[in-house]
Amino acid sequence: MAESAGDGGDEKQCAEEGCTREAAVRLYVPWEADRDVCAAHGRVLAQRDGVVAEPLPGDGNGWG
Ligand SMILES: [Zn+2]
Repeated sequence: MAESAGDGGDEKQCAEEGCTREAAVRLYVPWEADRDVCAAHGRVLAQRDGVVAEPLPGDGNGWG
């Protein structure tokens, strides 16, 4: 029962190590498992060849 620092209920947290932001983007990584990351990480990681970023459904998250 780890207490999350989030201010909401079931928002997913960014999957990147040490990042506590809310996940806003799903990354499809051909050589790794799909994972949800925050918009900032999504922008960076989506620049890699073959990686596809797709906004997660939900309220406007500033992506796109
Ligand atoms: Zn992040």
